[in-house]
Amino acid sequence: MPDNENAISRRLMVGGAGLGLAAIAAAAPASAQGSTDTATPKPLQDPTTKYPRPPYPRQTQPWPGLAGKMDPKPDHGELSYKGTGRLTGRKALITGGDSGMGRAAAIAYAREGADVAINYLPAEEADAREVVDLIRAAGRKAVPIPGDLRDPAFCRRLVDDAVRQLGGLDILVSNAGRQQSRASILEVSDEDFDATMKTNIYAPFYLIKAALPNMKPGSAIIATTSEQAYDPSPDLYDYAQTKAATMNFVKSLAKQFGPKGIRVNGVAPGPIWTPLQVSGGASEGKVVTFGATAPLGRAGQPVELAGIYVRLAEDDGSYTTGNVYGAGGGQGQP
Ligand code: NAD
Ligand code: MG
Repeated sequence: MPDNENAISRRLMVGGAGLGLAAIAAAAPASAQGSTDTATPKPLQDPTTKYPRPPYPRQTQPWPGLAGKMDPKPDHGELSYKGTGRLTGRKALITGGDSGMGRAAAIAYAREGADVAINYLPAEEADAREVVDLIRAAGRKAVPIPGDLRDPAFCRRLVDDAVRQLGGLDILVSNAGRQQSRASILEVSDEDFDATMKTNIYAPFYLIKAALPNMKPGSAIIATTSEQAYDPSPDLYDYAQTKAATMNFVKSLAKQFGPKGIRVNGVAPGPIWTPLQVSGGASEGKVVTFGATAPLGRAGQPVELAGIYVRLAEDDGSYTTGNVYGAGGGQGQP
């Protein structure tokens, strides 16, 4: 604990009982209260027009896709996310940290003061490099660990490497996912089905099992589930059931790990503008109208979920476990 924080807590412990809130606030230096400007009113932002609305340009990329090649480019908070020290000193591992929700979480975590290891596929090196640069620009340690999560031995090595290079592990964000749209179950090959299950269900099992012995009370596990867990689309038969499984393991492991002081929560995005969608996750036609049926009338952007990943990781969320937080554009899930 830095000296000034020590001094504050001593002062609060010694004199806090008799002090009013205003006096306690005045006793804390600006750094302890966050440096956010609360004097200048921020203009209201209309969520329906805050980001590009459909129709989006027709586009497709080979799987797994790159954020850098999308049009328009997704907003992961590169220019907008401001931290206030909510995760100072934490050590986090984020799978799928190169793009989409994982990148938004990585940027936010670094700007909140965490060191961050990211996993991604070797084909995503270009996206991952940008994230590494952003984490380092925030003054934090970045640990890039490429590799395929369908391999159980790699999952275990990933956790070991992250723990070794970060010097511990307080936050695991199991976010990587595979989604490939198939109009009919008859078009889902055995290999497809296997790859979706291995990526979305088996990998979190291997990762959490390897991470748990390294996690102390106060640590947090966060899994990315989906609105698909609750309201599956007909063309996402295999994917949607993996997201229901994710939602379910969040609840069982929260019960199992609660007594250990380790929280487990889920994030359920609605339609979000990420490479997953333009590399086979949605049909080409659906990409053009992506998010159009949401009451907000557009796709969401990864940065619109950054604060949720922070909230579920930080100490302020200490009573939140076994819960799933959504950002669904009004479609009602979870
Ligand atoms: P994304 O393409 O940016 O991220 C998915 C990541 O998964 C990729 O970057 C890749 O690094 C990783 N990945 C996939 N297969 C892998 C493998 N075998 N080994 C290692 N890494 C692998 O897209 P996103 O939409 O940000 O996806 C993140 C999570 O959000 C996924 O779990 C997805 O199911 C979920 N989700 C997305 C949406 C959406 O509309 N985009 C909605 C609900 C849930
Ligand atoms: Mg990616």
